[in-house]
Amino acid sequence: MTIQQTLSIIKPDATKRNLIGSIVSKLESSGLKVIAQKKIQLTELQAKQFYKVHKERPFYHDLVKFMVSGPVVVQVLEGENAVIKNRQVMGATNPDEAEEGTIRKEFAESLEANSVHGSDSIENAYQEISFFFSQIELVN
Ligand code: ADP
Ligand code: MG
Repeated sequence: MTIQQTLSIIKPDATKRNLIGSIVSKLESSGLKVIAQKKIQLTELQAKQFYKVHKERPFYHDLVKFMVSGPVVVQVLEGENAVIKNRQVMGATNPDEAEEGTIRKEFAESLEANSVHGSDSIENAYQEISFFFSQIELVN
Protein backbone atom coordinates (compact mmCIF):
# COMPACT_ATOMS: atom_id res chain seq x y z
CA MET A 1 0.00 0.00 0.00
CA THR A 2 1.67 3.15 -1.20
CA ILE A 3 -0.11 6.42 -1.73
CA GLN A 4 1.45 8.08 -4.76
CA GLN A 5 0.92 11.12 -6.93
CA THR A 6 1.20 11.14 -10.71
CA LEU A 7 0.84 13.67 -13.52
CA SER A 8 -1.99 13.26 -16.00
CA ILE A 9 -2.59 15.35 -19.11
CA ILE A 10 -5.79 15.39 -21.13
CA LYS A 11 -4.40 16.06 -24.61
CA PRO A 12 -5.72 18.49 -27.27
CA ASP A 13 -7.58 15.81 -29.28
CA ALA A 14 -9.70 15.10 -26.20
CA THR A 15 -10.28 18.69 -24.98
CA LYS A 16 -11.38 19.60 -28.54
CA ARG A 17 -13.97 16.80 -28.54
CA ASN A 18 -15.37 17.85 -25.14
CA LEU A 19 -14.13 14.69 -23.41
CA ILE A 20 -12.63 16.21 -20.25
CA GLY A 21 -15.48 15.04 -18.03
CA SER A 22 -15.65 11.55 -19.53
CA ILE A 23 -11.92 11.06 -19.01
CA VAL A 24 -11.89 12.42 -15.45
CA SER A 25 -14.86 10.15 -14.72
CA LYS A 26 -12.87 7.06 -15.75
CA LEU A 27 -9.92 8.16 -13.61
CA GLU A 28 -12.13 8.84 -10.59
CA SER A 29 -14.01 5.56 -11.00
CA SER A 30 -10.70 3.73 -10.66
CA GLY A 31 -10.19 5.32 -7.24
CA LEU A 32 -7.77 8.06 -8.30
CA LYS A 33 -8.43 11.50 -6.83
CA VAL A 34 -7.80 14.79 -8.66
CA ILE A 35 -5.80 16.94 -6.21
CA ALA A 36 -4.84 19.70 -8.70
CA GLN A 37 -6.11 20.61 -12.14
CA LYS A 38 -5.83 23.40 -14.70
CA LYS A 39 -6.65 23.97 -18.36
CA ILE A 40 -3.77 25.61 -20.19
CA GLN A 41 -2.44 26.30 -23.67
CA LEU A 42 1.11 24.96 -23.87
CA THR A 43 3.72 27.00 -25.70
CA GLU A 44 6.01 25.24 -28.17
CA LEU A 45 8.91 25.72 -25.77
CA GLN A 46 6.99 24.14 -22.88
CA ALA A 47 5.87 21.17 -25.00
CA LYS A 48 9.43 20.64 -26.25
CA GLN A 49 10.78 20.73 -22.74
CA PHE A 50 8.10 18.46 -21.32
CA TYR A 51 8.76 15.80 -23.99
CA LYS A 52 12.54 16.29 -24.18
CA VAL A 53 13.15 12.59 -23.36
CA HIS A 54 11.79 11.91 -26.83
CA LYS A 55 13.80 14.56 -28.68
CA GLU A 56 15.77 12.05 -30.76
CA ARG A 57 12.65 10.10 -31.76
CA PRO A 58 11.24 10.54 -35.28
CA PHE A 59 7.81 11.50 -33.90
CA TYR A 60 9.10 14.29 -31.61
CA HIS A 61 8.46 17.26 -33.91
CA ASP A 62 4.90 16.17 -34.75
CA LEU A 63 4.20 15.34 -31.10
CA VAL A 64 5.19 18.86 -30.04
CA LYS A 65 3.01 20.33 -32.81
CA PHE A 66 0.10 18.19 -31.69
CA MET A 67 0.49 19.13 -28.01
CA VAL A 68 0.23 22.86 -28.83
CA SER A 69 -2.66 22.41 -31.28
CA GLY A 70 -5.23 23.20 -28.58
CA PRO A 71 -5.67 23.45 -24.82
CA VAL A 72 -4.69 20.64 -22.48
CA VAL A 73 -5.81 19.83 -18.94
CA VAL A 74 -2.90 19.10 -16.62
CA GLN A 75 -3.80 17.39 -13.38
CA VAL A 76 -2.28 15.64 -10.42
CA LEU A 77 -3.84 12.33 -9.43
CA GLU A 78 -3.38 10.77 -6.03
CA GLY A 79 -4.13 7.29 -4.79
CA GLU A 80 -2.81 3.86 -4.03
CA ASN A 81 -0.13 2.98 -6.60
CA ALA A 82 -1.30 6.00 -8.59
CA VAL A 83 1.47 5.81 -11.21
CA ILE A 84 0.67 2.28 -12.36
CA LYS A 85 -3.05 2.62 -11.78
CA ASN A 86 -3.24 5.67 -14.03
CA ARG A 87 -1.25 3.85 -16.74
CA GLN A 88 -3.69 0.92 -16.49
CA VAL A 89 -6.74 3.15 -16.85
CA MET A 90 -5.07 4.98 -19.78
CA GLY A 91 -4.35 1.79 -21.75
CA ALA A 92 -1.51 1.09 -24.18
CA THR A 93 0.15 3.97 -26.08
CA ASN A 94 -1.21 2.59 -29.35
CA PRO A 95 -5.02 2.57 -29.04
CA ASP A 96 -5.18 -0.48 -31.33
CA GLU A 97 -3.37 -2.39 -28.59
CA ALA A 98 -5.27 -0.86 -25.66
CA GLU A 99 -7.57 -3.05 -23.58
CA GLU A 100 -11.35 -2.68 -23.59
CA GLY A 101 -12.62 -0.10 -21.15
CA THR A 102 -9.40 1.93 -21.10
CA ILE A 103 -9.37 5.65 -21.94
CA ARG A 104 -7.26 5.18 -25.06
CA LYS A 105 -9.33 2.25 -26.33
CA GLU A 106 -12.48 4.28 -25.92
CA PHE A 107 -11.39 7.77 -26.92
CA ALA A 108 -8.01 7.89 -28.71
CA GLU A 109 -7.99 8.98 -32.36
CA SER A 110 -4.55 7.60 -33.27
CA LEU A 111 -1.15 6.56 -31.91
CA GLU A 112 -0.22 10.24 -31.66
CA ALA A 113 -3.60 11.73 -30.71
CA ASN A 114 -4.13 9.26 -27.89
CA SER A 115 -6.08 11.53 -25.53
CA VAL A 116 -3.99 11.26 -22.35
CA HIS A 117 -0.50 11.40 -20.91
CA GLY A 118 0.53 9.70 -17.67
CA SER A 119 3.84 9.62 -15.83
CA ASP A 120 5.62 6.28 -16.26
CA SER A 121 7.56 6.11 -12.98
CA ILE A 122 7.53 7.65 -9.50
CA GLU A 123 10.67 9.67 -10.32
CA ASN A 124 9.18 11.03 -13.55
CA ALA A 125 5.89 11.74 -11.78
CA TYR A 126 7.73 13.92 -9.29
CA GLN A 127 9.55 15.76 -12.10
CA GLU A 128 6.44 16.22 -14.22
CA ILE A 129 4.26 17.41 -11.33
CA SER A 130 6.81 20.08 -10.42
CA PHE A 131 6.98 21.12 -14.10
CA PHE A 132 3.35 22.32 -13.87
CA PHE A 133 2.47 22.75 -10.20
CA SER A 134 3.91 24.14 -6.99
CA GLN A 135 3.36 22.23 -3.73
CA ILE A 136 0.71 24.68 -2.49
CA GLU A 137 -1.46 23.92 -5.52
CA LEU A 138 -1.85 20.26 -4.50
CA VAL A 139 -4.97 19.99 -2.37
CA ASN A 140 -6.23 16.71 -1.04
P1 ADP B 1 3.11 7.03 -23.43
O1 ADP B 1 2.34 8.33 -23.64
O2 ADP B 1 2.20 5.85 -23.45
O3 ADP B 1 3.99 7.06 -22.21
P2 ADP B 1 5.52 7.41 -25.02
O4 ADP B 1 6.11 8.07 -23.81
O5 ADP B 1 6.30 6.31 -25.65
O6 ADP B 1 4.05 6.84 -24.71
O7 ADP B 1 5.27 8.51 -26.14
C1 ADP B 1 4.80 9.78 -25.81
C2 ADP B 1 3.71 10.18 -26.77
O8 ADP B 1 4.27 10.33 -28.08
C3 ADP B 1 2.59 9.15 -26.96
O9 ADP B 1 1.59 9.20 -25.95
C4 ADP B 1 2.05 9.53 -28.32
O10 ADP B 1 1.21 10.69 -28.24
C5 ADP B 1 3.33 9.90 -29.06
N1 ADP B 1 3.93 8.75 -29.79
C6 ADP B 1 4.59 7.70 -29.24
N2 ADP B 1 5.02 6.86 -30.19
C7 ADP B 1 4.64 7.38 -31.37
C8 ADP B 1 4.80 7.00 -32.75
N3 ADP B 1 5.45 5.88 -33.08
N4 ADP B 1 4.27 7.82 -33.70
C9 ADP B 1 3.63 8.95 -33.37
N5 ADP B 1 3.44 9.39 -32.10
C10 ADP B 1 3.94 8.62 -31.11
MG1 MG C 1 5.64 8.29 -21.80
